[in-house]
Parts: sequence; C-alpha cells; structure tokens
Amino acid sequence: MIARNPAPEEPSPEQEPAAPPTAAALAREIAFRLEVNRQLGWSVPLASELRRPGRRSTGSDRTDQGAEVSGSVAAERERRQALLDEMDREVSACTRCPLHSGRTRTVFGVGDPCARLLFVGEGPGYDEDRQGEPFVGKAGRLLDRMILAMGLERSAVYIANIVKCRPPGNRNPEPPEIRACLPYLHRQIEIIRPEVICTLGTTPLRALLGASTGITRARGQLFRHEGIPAVPTFHPAYLLRNAAAKRPAWADLQKVMGFLGLPIS
Ligand code: SF4
Repeated sequence: MIARNPAPEEPSPEQEPAAPPTAAALAREIAFRLEVNRQLGWSVPLASELRRPGRRSTGSDRTDQGAEVSGSVAAERERRQALLDEMDREVSACTRCPLHSGRTRTVFGVGDPCARLLFVGEGPGYDEDRQGEPFVGKAGRLLDRMILAMGLERSAVYIANIVKCRPPGNRNPEPPEIRACLPYLHRQIEIIRPEVICTLGTTPLRALLGASTGITRARGQLFRHEGIPAVPTFHPAYLLRNAAAKRPAWADLQKVMGFLGLPIS
C-alpha cells in the first residue's frame, strides 16, 4: 500500500511554479550522490550516468571529475552542516511549547548532513535529555546494532526526533507539542534531503507520515513524506520489551535497504 500525505495546496496565482532542473543540474546532483555513495562505501550502479554523452570517458576524465565532485561534496557537506548548526542554536533557545521548562538539554539530531537514510524517533528520554544526543540509552544501543546489521554505521545516517525536548516521565508528546516542534524536523529534512526515511514507533508514523493507524498495522508499508519514500517500523524500546517483534522489524529494515541498493543477504 502506498499512503501519501495530503496533497499540497495549489500554488496561489502569485507563485511561479518551480522551473524543472536543467540537464547540468541533474548531472551535478547525480555526480554528487555518486561521490557520497563512494565516500560512504555504498555501491549503487549509477556510474554510467556520469559519462558525458557522445564520448567515452577516459581514466583522466574520471580522475578530474572525481576530484572536482569530491571537492563539491565536501563543500556541500560543510554548507548543510552550517545550516543544521544554525538551526540547532535556534532550537536550544526554543520556548515554543511547555516542554522547554522540563528539559536539561535540547536534542536536535545527529549524523551525516548528507545522509541517504534518516531515522525519526519520538522524543528524548532520560539519557538523551542529559547528553543532548538522540538514541544513546539501551534503545539507542539496539538502534546502533540494527544500523550495523544493515551494513552501515551510525555516523553514516542521520537520527532525529519529532520533539526536541524530553516529555516529563517519558510520556508521549501531546499534539500541541508536536505541532510546535514539527517545523524543525521538516527543515532538517529539507536540508539533509535523505533518499529514504525510516520512522520508529507510532508517534512519527502519525506526526510525520499522517497515518491514522498504529505501528503494528502500518509497519513495513510504504509511505511518503514530500515524495521521499518512508518505511515505518517498531521503536527499538518496544523491541527491547518484545523480542518476537525483532523479526518483522528486520524485514522492514530490509525494505529500507532495498531502497538504498544495499545488499540483502
Ligand atoms: Fe521548542 Fe520543540 Fe522544545 Fe517544544 S519540544 S520547546 S517546540 S524545541
């Protein structure tokens, strides 16, 4: 099943529709993605798209182009990190909802600003609130193992939450708190531009993907956020309490791996 968010409103008469990307822009984006894949050690068969039309590329072409793209990847990574850092500073002073009053630290998000895969959880717990980083307790260690099982490392993905401040007593965030905080996540996604999103648990399934069911029914199905494929699965904290759910969760992660072109053994 493909569930989609509500269709965006029609642009107002004043708004010009976005111009389609030029061939050169598309080529730059493909080259950028290829270099990201190469630096992360991910193999995706797009190399033929780098060749210039009408002539065979030579070894020196590839070297020149590789150096040029490598430089642009580093610059792009720096640019995105600067945007995220700026937003992180804004979030650390945020008082948009009552959750600010109980926090020790805001928990903005962590990972590669050029990550192809974004994990979205619910909100910080006790350990995260103290350390300022998402998924660092027991559930975080399980998420790390899940990422490793996919053949990746934590530093190669990005991890964020629906709300950036800890709800008291680890309760679920309330709808007004989610509404207040969600624009930050939307901006993070715009900056990172992941190729796939994997949501963890019911809260991000509903808040980000607009589902009305719970995670048990929706897990493993294909959703989209702004056109980006999204696969919901169980929250690692739930998996710690329900070992039987690990098998279906692994099947969900394999779907994510399929979108990324990662080998599935
Ligand atoms: Fe601001 Fe989000 Fe924290 Fe609420 S949870 S105070 S909206 S950063």
